[in-house]
Amino acid sequence: MAKEKIIGMTVKKSENFSDWYTEVIQKAELADYAAIAGCIVFRPYSYEIWEFIQDYINKDIKKRGHKNAYFPLFIPESFFKKESDHVEGFAPEVAWIEQKEGDAERYALRPTSEAIMMDSYSKWVKSHRDLPILLNQWCNVVRWETKVTKPFLRTREFLWQEGHTAHKNQKEAEEEVNVSHEMYRKLVEEEMAIPVLTGKKSDAEKFAGADYTTAHEAIMPDGRALQMCTSHYLGQNFAKAFDIKFLDENEKHAHAHTTSWGMSTRTIGAIIMAHGDDKGLIMPPRMAPIQAVIIPILFDDSKKNVLKAAGELKEKLSGIRVHLDERDNYSPGWKYNHWELKGVPVRIEIGPKDVAKKQVVLVRRDTGDKTAVKITELVKKLPVLLETIQKSMYAKALKFLKASIHSAKTFKEFSDIIEKKRGFIKADWCGDRACEEKIKDKTTATVRLIDGKGKPSGKCAHCGKKATAVAYFAKSY
Ligand SMILES: [Zn+2]
Repeated sequence: MAKEKIIGMTVKKSENFSDWYTEVIQKAELADYAAIAGCIVFRPYSYEIWEFIQDYINKDIKKRGHKNAYFPLFIPESFFKKESDHVEGFAPEVAWIEQKEGDAERYALRPTSEAIMMDSYSKWVKSHRDLPILLNQWCNVVRWETKVTKPFLRTREFLWQEGHTAHKNQKEAEEEVNVSHEMYRKLVEEEMAIPVLTGKKSDAEKFAGADYTTAHEAIMPDGRALQMCTSHYLGQNFAKAFDIKFLDENEKHAHAHTTSWGMSTRTIGAIIMAHGDDKGLIMPPRMAPIQAVIIPILFDDSKKNVLKAAGELKEKLSGIRVHLDERDNYSPGWKYNHWELKGVPVRIEIGPKDVAKKQVVLVRRDTGDKTAVKITELVKKLPVLLETIQKSMYAKALKFLKASIHSAKTFKEFSDIIEKKRGFIKADWCGDRACEEKIKDKTTATVRLIDGKGKPSGKCAHCGKKATAVAYFAKSY
């Protein structure tokens, strides 16, 4: 057997979460650093996860009548300035291409595409019959971060989808916001196995140019919140700025109501952080690029038989994403480490003794539990096991989320929690932007969500004024 390089993790998740994260990303071959500061290379393994997200969203939105389209990466500065809150909100992180000979003005590299898309929508909409417009775009966006960057979570260029719709009235537009919000919740909770809190953003945290923003927030093992996606009701703000006007049923001019909603590759970072352990990544089975890996245990005298049985096994499991690792220059132990690092939910071991007994040994990545299963029962039992793992990963994450929600009545309690436990702080809040700003200055925590069902009973946990909302605060990514 060839001399093997020792692989496996060297940093423990519980000891140094940040270093653990960057080690998983590199050793599981998800991403690599690029020669450009703040940018990463998406290696095939993370891109396959992204493709799953693409397939899921495409299937959902196409069923609802949306189509994909593509708009330029370059946004004329004059377009960008049309909606004043929008330009102000994005200005600090916009990367510009300076004006060249022959160009009328300089161009922004899109940080988001409302401006360029709404300009086209204004040309396409004349009558109420031209509405709704239901488009989505898969693309890269550029946000020139000056803060410390982190693979998937904060990079200068990332990938996302952005849905942009225009409707004839508020009711339809708000319905669109709700439906996209629910699509994201299902994708995050049911496929990524990450439970979320859900609600609206505060005025300070909402999208620049929106009437309101809804979002789902997850909690990461270090007690910091991570925004998984956003859906914005943009009211008539962009329609007025870009003159998206139409003749309604009564032959009167009206402005459209628009929405936008997006999910990005930062969700890959959430999956890594939420589920991984000291051995590396753990992929939720439903979206794992490889759901089960077959490792044949090879000895010289039985190699041929075992490989034959392993090959037949792979054929039998055609409905599942199975990989057969038949390399003979690595030991089974090395392969166990390798596929554990990559978080493959189930390992299928098959050696000469198993072949004789017409069985395999299944090993769960999340718990390490081993069970021998008859080959004849595998086609039935493997999908059941994968679903069991999916549910068990969600249950574990849900337990953690619930344990991460703390209540605070006073600012002393609030500050203690942020310092010692982190997680979400559920507190009565006055809703005042200046108060939110002060909380952020003192603790670095921000309002992650306003609890739509919460009824405030007392005073703002920070300033003591009458509370108008129940809010979830947290430090965030
Ligand atoms: Zn207050």
